[in-house]
Amino acid sequence: MKKQFECDKCTDGRIEFFSHVDNGFCYKCNGTGKLNYDPTPKGFVHEEDENRWLEEQEDMERVRQAEIENWMVANRIEGYEHL
Ligand SMILES: [Zn+2]
Repeated sequence: MKKQFECDKCTDGRIEFFSHVDNGFCYKCNGTGKLNYDPTPKGFVHEEDENRWLEEQEDMERVRQAEIENWMVANRIEGYEHL
């Protein structure tokens, strides 16, 4: 029996995004949701995703720091006005 892989274009043979076209029928896997080959080149996609994830985490951290700094500045300014 051949090993089957999850289709990377759809969920169970249907592409939700294209549900207005042919009911979202996936032509990549002929609506089966399975492929008899691995749709993701080994190592490559995973590594790219991981880098993107790390970048997102760094961006979020930067935004969080900026928000904290803004909050501190805003509160300090308010504090000075009360002094
Ligand atoms: Zn598919």
